[in-house]
Amino acid sequence: MHIAIIGAGVSGLLTALELVEQGCQISIFDQQQSGQAASWAGGGILSPMYPWRYPQAVNTLAQYGKSMYQTWNEKLLPITGIDFEIHDTGMLIFDEDDFDIGLNYADCHQEPMQQAEYLTRDGLDQINPWIDSKLQHAIYFPKLSNIRNPRLLQSVINYLKQHPLVSFFENRPIVKFQLQQHKIQYVVDQAGNKFAADQFVIATGAWSQHWAKQLNLDIPVQPVQGQMVLFKAPANWLPTMCMNNVMYLIPRQDGHIVCGSSMSHCGFDTTPDPKIKQNILDACLEMVPELAQFPIVKQWAGLRPSSPTGVPYIGAVPDANNLWMNVGHFRNGLCMGPASAQLLRQLMLEQPTLTDSTAYSPERLKTDQLVIG
Ligand SMILES: Cc1cc2nc3c(=O)[nH]c(=O)nc-3n(C[C@H](O)[C@H](O)[C@H](O)COP(=O)(O)OP(=O)(O)OC[C@H]3O[C@@H](n4cnc5c(N)ncnc54)[C@H](O)[C@@H]3O)c2cc1C
Repeated sequence: MHIAIIGAGVSGLLTALELVEQGCQISIFDQQQSGQAASWAGGGILSPMYPWRYPQAVNTLAQYGKSMYQTWNEKLLPITGIDFEIHDTGMLIFDEDDFDIGLNYADCHQEPMQQAEYLTRDGLDQINPWIDSKLQHAIYFPKLSNIRNPRLLQSVINYLKQHPLVSFFENRPIVKFQLQQHKIQYVVDQAGNKFAADQFVIATGAWSQHWAKQLNLDIPVQPVQGQMVLFKAPANWLPTMCMNNVMYLIPRQDGHIVCGSSMSHCGFDTTPDPKIKQNILDACLEMVPELAQFPIVKQWAGLRPSSPTGVPYIGAVPDANNLWMNVGHFRNGLCMGPASAQLLRQLMLEQPTLTDSTAYSPERLKTDQLVIG
């Protein structure tokens, strides 16, 4: 079976990986270079932030993230030489209003990764010596990890580019589907070239609303900009991820620390804003003041593919027999990525699914209303 995938972010690339391992032939298209959009820009936390604030359907997929990435990393590393660096740092959360619910959440939801403990100031000093003395307590999630998402993308792209069943078409914006009797015949790129396949997958992230008119659907997926600032400290300087008021610090193994993030509705603009940068710095230095001694080495902004409830659309597109989608992961596309791709592969190949797929069905595109941005 020949499958054309539109969009080479984490959603499209992991879908390609799942399908090629089953012997499918893949053509993957992107309007720019592969793996440069939200999936590159994200932080790589392998859990929704404050999981209790999300629908169960988001947490169900996210729970598979870490173990599936470990499996893929073991398989791909010997071939690509690129380690995704799954970094087991745990996370401290300082939002006092979340303490009770956070401490009980793992037990109520059978999500072992979310096991939490309450730390007083003494406990905090032992776990992370750089926390500001004004912060007297926290809840600590020892099992949470982060992944170095740019390296994940590099590795998957490298693996797929070596694979005899995969063809990449980069800098190739797809503008249209040719639909005839509820079946896609081919896709058309900006230059008018046509590409035929047996099945087609939309994995176009924040750009997915583009398809609404042609497919006669409401696709409420919109770009929500998130900005990041990158520090460089000595290797392993900051021992844990830290979070307060939805702002976070994410340490990488080599001492880089990713700080973010903001939420702005400004269309497809990815220009960093100095005021937002200052907000991020203020929030992060409030948690870890000593960070100020280290240089900022990069800043950027990316476009999250927001959806009304944060539950992605995974499955068959209504009224089209050979069209599928994997879009709308909003703030959690990296942690949900591997399970989302596996679920889609299972649906496409009519295999048993890892979880009930109803909550993710694109049938909702007929009914969803925008609830959160
Ligand atoms: C600042 C920030 C922090 C984040 N932190 C985290 C986190 O810690 N943990 C987590 O789980 N998630 C996080 N996320 C969210 C996560 O990054 C996204 O949910 C995820 O990357 C979405 O992946 P995607 O493949 O759907 O979209 P993208 O990575 O945006 O990929 C979509 C691709 O489709 C291509 N495309 C679009 N239209 C067309 C077309 N017409 N033709 C051809 N190609 C097309 C684009 O060029 C792009 O490459 C964060 C996001 C941001 C911005």
